[in-house]
Amino acid sequence: MNRTGKHEEIHPMLSAYFDEELTQADSQRVHLHVEECEECRSALREMYEIQQLTSEMKFRQPPEAIMEALETRISVQAPRKMGWTLVIAGLAGWLLYALAYAWKHLRWPTMVELLVEGTVAGLALVFISVLRQRLLERPHDRYRKVRK
Ligand SMILES: [Zn+2]
Repeated sequence: MNRTGKHEEIHPMLSAYFDEELTQADSQRVHLHVEECEECRSALREMYEIQQLTSEMKFRQPPEAIMEALETRISVQAPRKMGWTLVIAGLAGWLLYALAYAWKHLRWPTMVELLVEGTVAGLALVFISVLRQRLLERPHDRYRKVRK
């Protein structure tokens, strides 16, 4: 194990070796030692992995952040949007049904029916306005989440 250099002597030189700051001779000694020493080899491998990670982070973070934002939008916001759409569709359908019922019976709707339809229409308008507000606020929220 110590044929090509003492571990205690070589190990502190690893980072300099990794940064290619050693002389040709020292570099050769480290190279030979690393081939025989598992501990130095794994220390060196860690340095490579850390370097790879940091360079990946440097170059790949923007697309990853975009992907993350996309995933958040798809997984969280799509079902929510679908829920709103269903609520509005349901309310609109209910209102149409009430109007059709009144038309079919060929009479003016009673006070109760007017109240019910008015309530449904009012709810639909409230939901639409809330949804519109959500849509306007959404890009702002998402930007803040990504930055955090
Ligand atoms: Zn070693």
